[in-house]
Amino acid sequence: MKCRKCTEQLEVLRQCNRIRLRCTGCNKEYQIHEVASDLDEETEKLLERYTVLIYD
Ligand SMILES: [Zn+2]
Repeated sequence: MKCRKCTEQLEVLRQCNRIRLRCTGCNKEYQIHEVASDLDEETEKLLERYTVLIYD
């Protein structure tokens, strides 16, 4: 999915047991709940994978 500020791609960032989305353009970090309503299918799948890792 795209950054709200600069429209660059967001990447999933794992920090200890927290997950953030970070923009590859402006480096802005989003908490998942901030962008939950905008998550696309691709990003949701990525997040599912990370969630499994964390709770395993
Ligand atoms: Zn950005």
